[in-house]
Amino acid sequence: MQFNEFLNNLSNYEPGKDIEVIAKEYKLKEVIKLASNENPLGTAPKVIQTLKTYADKAHLYPDDSMSELKSKLCAKFGIKDKELIIGAGSDQVIEFAVHAKLNPKNAFLQCKATFAMYEIYAKQCGAKCYKSKSLGHDLKEFKELYEAHKDEIKMIFLCVPNNPLGECLNAHDVKEFIKIVDEDCMVVIDAAYNEFASYKDKEKHLEAKELISQFNNVLYLGTFSKLYGLGGLRVGYGIADEHLIKALYKLRAPFNVNILALKAACAALEDIEFLTQSLKNNFTQMTKYEEFAQTHNLEFILSYTNFITYFFNEKNSTDLSEKLLKKGIIIRNLKSYGLNALRITIGTAYENSRFFEEFSQILKG
Ligand SMILES: *Cc1c(COP(=O)(O)O)cnc(C)c1O
Repeated sequence: MQFNEFLNNLSNYEPGKDIEVIAKEYKLKEVIKLASNENPLGTAPKVIQTLKTYADKAHLYPDDSMSELKSKLCAKFGIKDKELIIGAGSDQVIEFAVHAKLNPKNAFLQCKATFAMYEIYAKQCGAKCYKSKSLGHDLKEFKELYEAHKDEIKMIFLCVPNNPLGECLNAHDVKEFIKIVDEDCMVVIDAAYNEFASYKDKEKHLEAKELISQFNNVLYLGTFSKLYGLGGLRVGYGIADEHLIKALYKLRAPFNVNILALKAACAALEDIEFLTQSLKNNFTQMTKYEEFAQTHNLEFILSYTNFITYFFNEKNSTDLSEKLLKKGIIIRNLKSYGLNALRITIGTAYENSRFFEEFSQILKG
């Protein structure tokens, strides 16, 4: 059978490996996963309670208006219902946005090393990709590239802070940059880790309401998969001017977020204690990763997220990640991004000490 030509140059997203699968494959009792930037403190207590309460509602379709979660998110961000769309992960909102805007005649702009799904969805639409030479976000270079290809570029992705590098633009610089972008070009601000960045440094905080009131071409994305600890349930959202959200809605299938996910997300917003603990644990433990890098002479970028990226010169990241896997530690090899680097999610104190123990042995060998 022949398939559409665009499939030929599409590669799949490389997901983090699964704990149970690895335990079985390597015959290991304990497997530690520091690969997908999930919350190491687990599922929030309020979420567990809610899931139990609604366990017997799995036979019902969810409320397609998603009114309960929508009203909570509207209150949190000070926005209107019409300025919000909820997806099965913010991934799905990225998909809607790309499909709404890109086609074989136009192009998008992103930095060299950023979230892989932007390019995957954009290629499905046949759009051309412009990438900065710099690994992370260099807005001066973005401006040059945008101005050189202004007629073509109809979408720009800013990941603030950036996955998989961890660096973060200042909110002020983001806003100054958007000012030079034409109204017909959508600027996607992926704020998947912005809660972490804001906690560390107020200048990194992006205010969704302010952004969308100032710019009607901005799509702000948030997710419940990282800080909120709901990666397994798939909930994310997009905030934008009403006319932009209306376009995305045309691409949404009914019941795109399941009933337990909707209820869990409502509960996750309310478990303030869990959220505070998660942020504290992250940055206390992050210090240990910085110290480990210094002790072992590893290059790293200062991170504003819940992961840290180590770069290697002589050692090979694929080899290192395979050795870690055999010891029952899953981390993310950045080979597929063309980097000789590893991205490690900040875990609990125990998980991190296990990582340091094994990794220092591997580095010696
Ligand atoms: C994790 C992540 C997302 C979205 O995750 P979902 O689970 O689909 O909500 C989006 N962008 C970045 C940069 C991410 O790291």
